[in-house]
Amino acid sequence: MILILNGVSLQIDGRPIVHGADVEIGPGEFVGLLGPNGCGKSTLLRSAYRALRPSAGLITVEGDDLVRLTPRESARRTAVVAQEAPAELDFTVAEVVAMGRTPHKRPLDRTTAADELICAQALERVAAGHLRERGFTTLSGGEKQRVLIARALAQRSRLLLLDEPTNHLDIRHQLEILRLVRGLGISTLAALHDLNQAAEYCDRLYLMDGGRIIAGGSPAEVLTPERIAQVYGVRAVQRTQ
Ligand code: ADP
Ligand code: MG
Ligand code: MG
Repeated sequence: MILILNGVSLQIDGRPIVHGADVEIGPGEFVGLLGPNGCGKSTLLRSAYRALRPSAGLITVEGDDLVRLTPRESARRTAVVAQEAPAELDFTVAEVVAMGRTPHKRPLDRTTAADELICAQALERVAAGHLRERGFTTLSGGEKQRVLIARALAQRSRLLLLDEPTNHLDIRHQLEILRLVRGLGISTLAALHDLNQAAEYCDRLYLMDGGRIIAGGSPAEVLTPERIAQVYGVRAVQRTQ
């Protein structure tokens, strides 16, 4: 397993937010994390990139206890595109992607020729090579998301954590990002909102409600009409597969 959360509980300012979460991501799996606003998706993801330490339970990345890794090593192993306010203002695309080579610290270190090659390849993988000299803030929403994914790819980690990567994108660009992520073949845990999209693009899903993982498995296993009604309070959601 690339990532294992075993009975992970999380608190913010002493308030319990996530309760005993069990999550596993295997090699190359694209796993969706679903659930209504405020159910704890972002908080759970934060624990997996060590922005939040569990109050109980264990997180292992490639078999190693996350809290025992050095900050440099844990940053190297988990690449994240979060919803937090971007620190990317006033940087060019090339500079933003280069930050992926030094994920444990900011501002930028000097990058080597090898780093520059890795960054150029990362930009090509998200079809954004032509954007490299652009200012990050001048990009469209879809372009920004692709560049942030390129920054994550530049880390060369085997685990990608994405917090609502399709947020604020129109439907065409939402699907573009989902196809892109799926095509990467990197173990990915992504908080998503659209149940149909998650069912179509993800290998497996976890559904959260009230800080608990209430179901995990294939899209068909997780997104039963009864469960959707229970969690979202709506009766029928059109499924695409
Ligand atoms: P989701 O990502 O599923 O929408 P979050 O993980 O962001 O949910 O939030 C889960 C709960 O934790 C919510 O009740 C939210 O208000 C609370 N929470 C999240 N971040 C903070 C924070 N920095 N300070 C206080 N409460 C927070
Ligand atoms: Mg939210
Ligand atoms: Mg969130």
